[in-house]
Amino acid sequence: MADLLLVLHTESDGSFSKGVLEAVATATDVGSKLSSAFAVGIIGADASAAADSISGCGAEKFYVVESDALASSRYSSDTKAVSELIRISGAQLILAPATSRLTRCMPGAAARTGAAIDTHIVALNVEGGKVSVQRWYYRQRILTTLSREARPWILLLDGGVNDAWQGAAGCADKELVSVEFTDTEKRTVIKGVESPTVDAQTIRPDAAMLFVAGAGWTKKQADGEFHIGDAGVLIQGFLCKASASLGSSKSLVDLQTEGQETLSFMSHMNQVGQTGSTPRHAKGLSACCHGEEPHAVGWRFINERRAINTDANCGWAQGKADVVYIADAFEVIEKVNALLS
Ligand SMILES: Cc1cc2nc3c(=O)[nH]c(=O)nc-3n(C[C@H](O)[C@H](O)[C@H](O)COP(=O)(O)OP(=O)(O)OC[C@H]3O[C@@H](n4cnc5c(N)ncnc54)[C@H](O)[C@@H]3O)c2cc1C
Repeated sequence: MADLLLVLHTESDGSFSKGVLEAVATATDVGSKLSSAFAVGIIGADASAAADSISGCGAEKFYVVESDALASSRYSSDTKAVSELIRISGAQLILAPATSRLTRCMPGAAARTGAAIDTHIVALNVEGGKVSVQRWYYRQRILTTLSREARPWILLLDGGVNDAWQGAAGCADKELVSVEFTDTEKRTVIKGVESPTVDAQTIRPDAAMLFVAGAGWTKKQADGEFHIGDAGVLIQGFLCKASASLGSSKSLVDLQTEGQETLSFMSHMNQVGQTGSTPRHAKGLSACCHGEEPHAVGWRFINERRAINTDANCGWAQGKADVVYIADAFEVIEKVNALLS
């Protein structure tokens, strides 16, 4: 029986993703602070070999569910396998990385095992044997610390918060857990994957830099004309040369739904802010952007922030950026692209 269980899944090639290894680092830390029996449960392709690859993480036991049915993500089979891992381990505290696969099945596993569950955990503290966690509420504006008496307690850990676990592979103490799946549980199958071309993929969570484009790119410029075509070329050129991820203000992506000419490669998926996302990157550059939400909320987790705006009185750029360039973004980005070439 374990007190602490870390639930993981492998990728289709049997490896662990960076987000999963970050959760391994968190569990290793919590396990040592709790000084309690720590186990790892793994589902997915080549789960046994994957267990060996993290055998040095401090876990005493590795529960492994190996089945063709778990080679790829599917709610019904994943939920059943994870529920079985929780039951068999007897763990009272269950950690899991918030990958799309586990985020989807963990609430179902919580319902089946009578566990409480909290999501978007960014920090775990252990004091006097008591565990408390931190998460943001109200679109990353309020950071709360909370604890629960309820057990089992499942915690989904946000990615990008910790360094990934690193350590030597070895021979893990594995227990193969057998889970039978009915035909109904296996009926959803992946027939193929359609993904955008690399150039079209503008959202890059692992990029060092986030480029936040505002609606200014689509406004009349100093010559009294619109330059939306030029804006598209400049922004895409910058993204490509700097390997940056693209964020947008709400106003810019909303233009599309209003039928106005705008940047074709931009969608609501790019929107950052209160009603958008709050990605984590080392650096951020906003250009032609005035809004509070992109500057105050959207890039809250960006470490070093700079803005380009023609308006020296742009309060949000002034208030929330470390450096503001009072300049025409068309000229600046053109020059930067030339330098990067
Ligand atoms: C409930 C609610 C939720 C919201 N959620 C979000 C959200 O999640 N994300 C979000 O972004 N917004 C959100 N908004 C909208 C937000 O309040 C702003 O309206 C929006 O962010 C403004 O977008 P913008 O800065 O791109 O455009 P604008 O306000 O039009 O600013 C354009 C800027 O471009 C500058 N500019 C123009 N040309 C140039 C040039 N050549 N070089 C340099 N600078 C130039 C101008 O000086 C100006 O500062 C929300 C609003 C509400 C009410």
